[in-house]
Amino acid sequence: MVARTQQRWQTPAWKRELATAFTDPIALLTALELTPAQLPVPLLRPERFALLVPRGFAALMRRGDPRDPLLRQVLPLADEAKVRAGFVADPVGDSAARRAPGLLQKYRGRALLIATGACAVHCRYCFRRHFPYSEEGSRQERFAAALAALRHAEEIEAEEVEEVILSGGDPLMLDDATLAWLIEALDRLPQLKRLRLHTRLPTLLPSRITERLCALLAGSRLRLVIVAHVNHAAELGPDAQRALLKLSEIGAPLLNQSVLLRGVNDAVTPLAELSEALLASRVLPYYLHLLDPVSGAAHFDVPEAEARALVIELRQRLPGYLVPRLVRERPGESAKTVLL
Ligand SMILES: *Cc1c(COP(=O)(O)O)cnc(C)c1O
Ligand code: SF4
Repeated sequence: MVARTQQRWQTPAWKRELATAFTDPIALLTALELTPAQLPVPLLRPERFALLVPRGFAALMRRGDPRDPLLRQVLPLADEAKVRAGFVADPVGDSAARRAPGLLQKYRGRALLIATGACAVHCRYCFRRHFPYSEEGSRQERFAAALAALRHAEEIEAEEVEEVILSGGDPLMLDDATLAWLIEALDRLPQLKRLRLHTRLPTLLPSRITERLCALLAGSRLRLVIVAHVNHAAELGPDAQRALLKLSEIGAPLLNQSVLLRGVNDAVTPLAELSEALLASRVLPYYLHLLDPVSGAAHFDVPEAEARALVIELRQRLPGYLVPRLVRERPGESAKTVLL
């Protein structure tokens, strides 16, 4: 008994790992054998949404390469301070889709729950980088309000919601006890059939994918679908591969969503390599998103015509099941817009 109690109070490995994540750009650059002078653009020291990079993810970056595609996703550069017309704080109409604290609904039969505002990494292109998480109340208040809305709210046609999508932030940043509580509460909603999880943690913090987490997810009565967010094959190191295989063993289909990002994956070869690397971890490509025009991220933008040409070429190289659907989210539309 005593040993059990002690174990319960032990900080899990993934949280300890998170506590040692890089938050200082110079420390990260030093670990990569780089100096700020080698960067193509000067560093930025943002007040909010500062650098956050787990050490395991940094270890997958190439030493001495200021243009490393993983580094580019996370390093705040002066480009972020540039203003570009059409790039706004809420590019996908999240505030108009808010139905209860932390609950968004845009599409029929699906509702999205902002499980937490926390992430293991701060992606510079994130479309929710300006999301007012702190205005959504405490976690208990949010969950209570979202569950109440899913039980009976007319404006979301609650009885027609068959799928809840846990998003964020990253839902796997919740600890096991909170996640178990939430999933049990969702299990009790009779109209729900599916539970979808959108997460970057299998690749950013593979230690989060524990046996205990897998058992917890497998215990739900809901059909589970897991959507990873991987943008480049180099993100799929051995630990990430193991984490994804572990998740696939609980029987959940694994899909991947990427964002087409200038300087990260904006060519046919990296896109093809990504699809092949995903398959090796039993993950199939789902969506390739055009960048949401969020302010501070314009330097990642790839124009639509170029994106189409890339995917047409990709289709000539790969079997159909390895080609993601090229999509863009337009606020107010009833589904993501498929561009090809
Ligand atoms: C993208 C999104 C979904 C999921 O759309 P799918 O096409 O089913 O993947 C659901 N709800 C919201 C609010 C979304 O932004
Ligand atoms: S993990 Fe997702 S929500 Fe978090 S910063 Fe990255 S893109 Fe944004």
